[in-house]
Amino acid sequence: MIRIAEIILSMLLLATVGCGNSQGAEGRSSIQKQASQTTLPDTAKQAAAPVEKVVKTDEEWKKQLTEEQFYVLRQKGTEPPFRNKYWDNHDSGVFRCAGCGLALFSSQTKFNSGTGWPSFYQPIAPTAVIAQTDGSHGMVRSEVVCARCNGHLGHVFDDGPEPTGLRYCINSAAIELAKQ
Ligand SMILES: [Zn+2]
Repeated sequence: MIRIAEIILSMLLLATVGCGNSQGAEGRSSIQKQASQTTLPDTAKQAAAPVEKVVKTDEEWKKQLTEEQFYVLRQKGTEPPFRNKYWDNHDSGVFRCAGCGLALFSSQTKFNSGTGWPSFYQPIAPTAVIAQTDGSHGMVRSEVVCARCNGHLGHVFDDGPEPTGLRYCINSAAIELAKQ
């Protein structure tokens, strides 16, 4: 996610510089104005598009989710390695959030990490997941949550395979495979 953020930032900066040059005479120097104009590349626009949030109370989530799904998604729990649904699953399809159904990962980016949890080298779209700092258990890790319902999915590490070098270590209970 850091690399993606850097790419987006550099694209935004490029667009800003471009606009700045052409509009200097008009004295329009607000970064906000420049960034909101329609000169951004399509990929940056897509990445910047907000995902509509799903917000529910714990009681509402409890009614909808299994105990295990609630523990992982809403209480940031971690399921045991090698004893979960998808760590050794090789079916093709799209893994969706078990809470809100948002498409999160493609089976095409799933790889065998040897950790006992389903692992992916990138999300299905840059906007699908959000990485945030997690300082629990005496470690500093990047927690990965669903961009739509903020449900806890797992963590992302920088020891993954090419092309991203990232390893999204995801709890099976947080996702559901829609086979294709
Ligand atoms: Zn979700």
